[in-house]
Amino acid sequence: MTSIQILKSRSIFMAEAQKFIAGAVVIVDKKIAGVYSGKVPIRFLALRPKISDFGEQTVVPGFIESHSHMFLSALVYNQKITLISGNSETACAADLSSKVPRNRLKPHQWIVAKGWYVPAWQEKRLPSRLTLDHYFPDNPVAIIADDLHTLWLNTAALDILLPLVNPNRFDRDVTVTARGDPSGVVGEQTAMAFLHRIFDYSNSQKAAILAPYLDHLTSLGLTSTCDLALLPAQTINGLDDQIYPAVYHELAHQNRLPLRVHLYPYFKRGVAALKKLAANYTTPRIRIAGGKLFFDGVTSSYTAWMKAPYEGRKTMGMPIIPAAEMKKLIFLAQQSGIPLRIHAIGDQAIHEALIDFIAAERQFKNSGLVQHCLEHLETIDPVDLPLMTKSRVIASVQPSHPLLDYRTADRYVGKRSQTMWPFRSFDRHHIPMAFGTDSPVVTDITPMDNLYFAMTRQTLAGDPPTGWHSNQRLTLVQVLAAQTIGAARACGFADQIGSLTVGKLADIAVLDRNIEKTPIREIKDIQISGTMVDGNWEYRKQPVNNTMKV
Ligand SMILES: [Zn+2]
Repeated sequence: MTSIQILKSRSIFMAEAQKFIAGAVVIVDKKIAGVYSGKVPIRFLALRPKISDFGEQTVVPGFIESHSHMFLSALVYNQKITLISGNSETACAADLSSKVPRNRLKPHQWIVAKGWYVPAWQEKRLPSRLTLDHYFPDNPVAIIADDLHTLWLNTAALDILLPLVNPNRFDRDVTVTARGDPSGVVGEQTAMAFLHRIFDYSNSQKAAILAPYLDHLTSLGLTSTCDLALLPAQTINGLDDQIYPAVYHELAHQNRLPLRVHLYPYFKRGVAALKKLAANYTTPRIRIAGGKLFFDGVTSSYTAWMKAPYEGRKTMGMPIIPAAEMKKLIFLAQQSGIPLRIHAIGDQAIHEALIDFIAAERQFKNSGLVQHCLEHLETIDPVDLPLMTKSRVIASVQPSHPLLDYRTADRYVGKRSQTMWPFRSFDRHHIPMAFGTDSPVVTDITPMDNLYFAMTRQTLAGDPPTGWHSNQRLTLVQVLAAQTIGAARACGFADQIGSLTVGKLADIAVLDRNIEKTPIREIKDIQISGTMVDGNWEYRKQPVNNTMKV
């Protein structure tokens, strides 16, 4: 039987036109059948629709998370990973000790945490396993760095994990002391292999970890999320890049997948492997949407690839994948019609990628628009903005990141920090933006926080008082577009989601007030009244009045 719903509101956000209307959205089964600023046509009313009048509550297209690492985020949400902080090695270890009381630990129980980062410490020195041993002499401890690529381990953890190190990677990934002993810090592929071993869960266990997190996301108004590969671990079962379509499939089968997931496995799994995987997941809830690559690192560890040396240093950083190889990968993706999401933070990495994207599109004209994205783009050189426009690449950005780093950005890149995160400039150059969080690099950032950060360039506490480079602030309609239609374009699914448009899937969020009338500083406080995916309410805060009045 056909189901007809009408959602009425005095504030409906039209993402494509970047404007609000007062009126009604008509939903027939899973899809949007009409959006009206005046009266709803009689043909719908005659079919006894279910009418929800939201009054002043703003109706928006469902929010879309453009960049997250879902499984790791779910582990944090389920407190399988303890979040810690501290401005030194000892402070971090002590913080973990205070959060994980030793008397409640079982023998051999793993302690996994996240939240250390040398660039944020007063003393810029890699930590030692001995500091952790002091607090945790028996249980294995692994603390993930904020860059998600590095682990700090105690001796008990090293005893378990070191025998698993691939000898080819030992020198590169395992830090040793002057005496030649492992110091406790392990990076890159080996770190990822260790995480794979620590979180050695079955698909059913992974599903149980993901399910509550997915429900939580719907309570934030999210109807879609992009799940991007981490650096992959080489395991006996092949690469583990933490992209688990089979787990989502299991959840969908149990009717426990309340939002869409757009998956980006590591592109170097190979075109054939990606296409085979994509052919297995063809529903609009689970898609293999493209491939993920990392071109460089981050500025705060001098690993982002810059055009000129870092402030007070000789290094310019370097690419993780050599430029010639990256060019080949971009051409291969373009030729194969596979959208890429490439981590590029340094201005040189961004420049090289843009040149390659433009050249690849020119060479493979017949393949149509393959919608690629660059991720983060923190230090894009302003002279490269026209190049970015020409490339048609989307800027996938995280509005919380400038507010994490604004105090220290100039320490690494000097004057160049003044043009970092140039959101307004992207808009002026008609470069489409997609908002995300990069969870769990940051945690607990909601879509409403994202809107607030990008509109104010201030922290939740209101710092700095005038906003950081406030000329780069965006307007309400611009930020809403980046969190909806922009992010839909980033996941290559804008023909189906991202705006309230006839024929698109009915993915909708209802805010608890009229966002147009909300003071900017209160936007972060807006809650979600309801979240609809495929025409079904996946989340409802409170029942609304159903009336037959139109
Ligand atoms: Zn990321």
